[in-house]
Amino acid sequence: MHAPNRSPTPAGRSCGNCYKPRLMAVPKKKTSKARRDKRRATHRISAPALTECPHCHHPVRPHHVCGNCGQYRGREVEPLTTVAP
Ligand SMILES: [Zn+2]
Repeated sequence: MHAPNRSPTPAGRSCGNCYKPRLMAVPKKKTSKARRDKRRATHRISAPALTECPHCHHPVRPHHVCGNCGQYRGREVEPLTTVAP
């Protein structure tokens, strides 16, 4: 007759009762040290650019409202009272 079904779940799948490790994605080639280091060469962080507020001479990021006096391009900017749409 027909063989008894020994695996109720398909290969690679795990049922809730038994532990069956799934196959994992494995890189085909080892990454060379030069390739790894060239990738990591772009991982450094840099200090934010700072300019001086023309009103209070506080250091402020360009194109940002001054956190000290609340001015931007020579006029005071009110903070938003409602959530922006
Ligand atoms: Zn300022």
